[in-house]
Amino acid sequence: MSQPALDPCRCPLCGQPNACAMAMPQACDAASGPCWCTRVQFSADLLKQVPEAARNKACICAACVAASEQPSPGTSLGHNQGKHA
Ligand SMILES: [Zn+2]
Repeated sequence: MSQPALDPCRCPLCGQPNACAMAMPQACDAASGPCWCTRVQFSADLLKQVPEAARNKACICAACVAASEQPSPGTSLGHNQGKHA
């Protein structure tokens, strides 16, 4: 196999479950409807980190999106970050 199988349920950046359509029972069913990731804006910088093969197939997870939106250093783990509007 030249390419690793793409798991659309996993974030191509960190490999964690991306919780796409996390509010839905079938998080992995891409046909079940739009998920949160359709409402957030992925920065070009973030998208650049996604392997070409994974684009438009695997969603970036919320943690990676949040990490890219908060350029504050020192909190790379992003564990305790609450939502801040
Ligand atoms: Zn991620």
